Amino acid sequence: MKVAFFNTKKYDRQFFEAMNSKYNHELTFLEPRLDVTTASLAQGFPAVCIFVNDKADAATLENLAAGGTRLLALRCAGFNMVDLKRAAELGITVLRVPAYSPYAVAEHAVGLILSLNRKLYRAYNRVRDDNFALDGLMGFDLHGRTVGVIGTGKIGMIFAQIMRGFGCQLLGYDAYPNAQFETLGAARYVELADLFENSDIISLHCPLLPETRHMINADAIDQMKPDVMLINTSRGGLLDTKAAISGIKSGKIGYLGIDVYEAEDNIFFEDLSDSIIQDDTFQLLQSFPNVLITAHQAFFTRDALQNIAETTLTNITDFEQGHPTHVNEVQYTEKVVAKTVA
Ligand code: NAD
Repeated sequence: MKVAFFNTKKYDRQFFEAMNSKYNHELTFLEPRLDVTTASLAQGFPAVCIFVNDKADAATLENLAAGGTRLLALRCAGFNMVDLKRAAELGITVLRVPAYSPYAVAEHAVGLILSLNRKLYRAYNRVRDDNFALDGLMGFDLHGRTVGVIGTGKIGMIFAQIMRGFGCQLLGYDAYPNAQFETLGAARYVELADLFENSDIISLHCPLLPETRHMINADAIDQMKPDVMLINTSRGGLLDTKAAISGIKSGKIGYLGIDVYEAEDNIFFEDLSDSIIQDDTFQLLQSFPNVLITAHQAFFTRDALQNIAETTLTNITDFEQGHPTHVNEVQYTEKVVAKTVA
């Protein structure tokens, strides 16, 4: 099948070309991101493959459909960048990669916790500067601390297991609780307010949906313990960044580790080191010593890229062969439901 890949980097091409020897699709790698102005590049391609920061809004989908596109293959898990209602109306099937390596993301979240707690990013620079003083580098034992896990799906569960390994107590919140969480030991589901009130560390692992946008806002932050550590490796829109900045300035938030940012679309995945970044909120966030930002790299392991390439190409093959109900399809309903593999 002819597939136009938008927004591709060297590593996408490398992993997809290697994996495609098993599938033999006709892959065309394009550098521009997908949006309404670039959709015409996909003219004549029945399948289009996109990533988290492409934009498949209504107008873009209309252009794709007019050019003959019938499949939107997401090479990621999240699907908040697609107007699913319009896609359904236009007869465009949306397939995604629901799980490629939940370990990659969960382990990165733990990496942020360890780096922030023990200030490894500051220590690294100090030692390189022959500054061997310890002032300002004091951390705390993770053992015995309470970790709030919001979203106990694939990534949240692995994250919870790792934190149990450190000897942490776990509080979970999920719109659809799963029985396995409470079998982890020292783990129980609570109401969100209870989780906010009693967690030393809070880590977000739920999807971005209309009802979860800004779930961490000023009101939520008010309810948290002083000096709380907030970790977001899920989607930037879950966190009200301005409220987080106020929480950091007031001292309520002691540590903030984020791999995602609500306005990341114009910043992440590009080398902007020679540019003047115009996003004042992001620049202010960067200026705090207790904030650690990575640029949406939690998924970025060899294992994950291989799995992404394999599942995406299998999705395309299955679509081409007309599999009627696909386990990786994201369908529009009044409340969006993504069928996920168990
Ligand atoms: P998943 O579907 O397995 O788990 C999500 C969990 O969130 C489910 O248990 C679900 O019931 C729960 N949930 C749904 N609505 C909720 C609500 N309103 N409140 C609380 N919980 C709710 O997904 P996953 O594979 O664990 O991925 C979690 C998120 O991680 C994804 O949505 C994606 O945005 C993000 N992600 C980020 C990266 C990265 O590189 N930073 C990579 C992959 C995924």
